[in-house]
Amino acid sequence: MAFSRALFFLVMAAAVFGFSTQPQALAGSPARKYAECLRKAGHARQGAWDIAACGKFLDGILDLEATRYTGYTNLECEDSEQGELFLPEGFRIDTTSCGTDPRTLEILKAAVNAMLSEIRCLGELNPNVARRLAARIAERRPRLNCLGGLDGFSLVPGTGFYERVCGQLVGGAEGRECEDRVQDILTKQKRAGAFFNVATPDDIYLVASDPRQTTSPESIASTALHELLHLGGITHNDKLIDCDGQRKPVHDCYAKGFIDYKKDAVYGCSAMCAASPGTRSYFWTREGCQACMGWRNPGANESRCESPVPYVKKRGSFP
Ligand SMILES: [Zn+2]
Repeated sequence: MAFSRALFFLVMAAAVFGFSTQPQALAGSPARKYAECLRKAGHARQGAWDIAACGKFLDGILDLEATRYTGYTNLECEDSEQGELFLPEGFRIDTTSCGTDPRTLEILKAAVNAMLSEIRCLGELNPNVARRLAARIAERRPRLNCLGGLDGFSLVPGTGFYERVCGQLVGGAEGRECEDRVQDILTKQKRAGAFFNVATPDDIYLVASDPRQTTSPESIASTALHELLHLGGITHNDKLIDCDGQRKPVHDCYAKGFIDYKKDAVYGCSAMCAASPGTRSYFWTREGCQACMGWRNPGANESRCESPVPYVKKRGSFP
């Protein structure tokens, strides 16, 4: 086992240097940072690469036809300077905010695996959604941050987390002002399990779904899937409608008797494929299913959306 596994890792690790052919475009990219992490850890030598082997790994995850996602490798790598842990599945954990407690990391890793199941599920409903997510995972290596409360993390100047949160997420602030602005965001997000913000397009912020508060990987993955869809560029249905006397976007209209908010691909896809069975059965709607299946997917067979029963039964047990 040791030999073949080591050989596999060597091939996978070497593969990241396939990017050496276009260093300009990828300088500072998450894939490049990952490559540097592997090199510093002594896992890779510059110059060797195998793009085909890398691509196959992602194909294996999603069971899709040939992809061009050459950035995949299959090693865990911790960059303690930047405070991030690269996972073999393409995601990252921000260790400045999430900490390095083995139990917390174990929950987050299990949540990432549950997210892969969710993406496979989406691949059955709408391959274009799954492809989009796979491409974004390969390019951005989405980073999970833990913002379960200001007590749960510290804004220490000089860390990658501080630069990102204070410099980009809250629009440029220092010290106390940055803390206040983060607190404002958390107050606004108090009902949210997690959030995504285009100012930091590689990142998902776990709030109520912080693994130090919510220890169920399936629950974390269910929340994170919604944000992952946003990270993939899949947006809410923002069409303005009359919502019980007020003009509101479709996805914000929860007024009694109004079901238009359900015509939303983000809610639809996350309800169809959330890792938590409770989330799937509770949030399933025909309109959401149709919105998910139809996302950039003309001619989708929406007859699958007529009844939730066979689908929910089929997906009833996640690995
Ligand atoms: Zn959303």
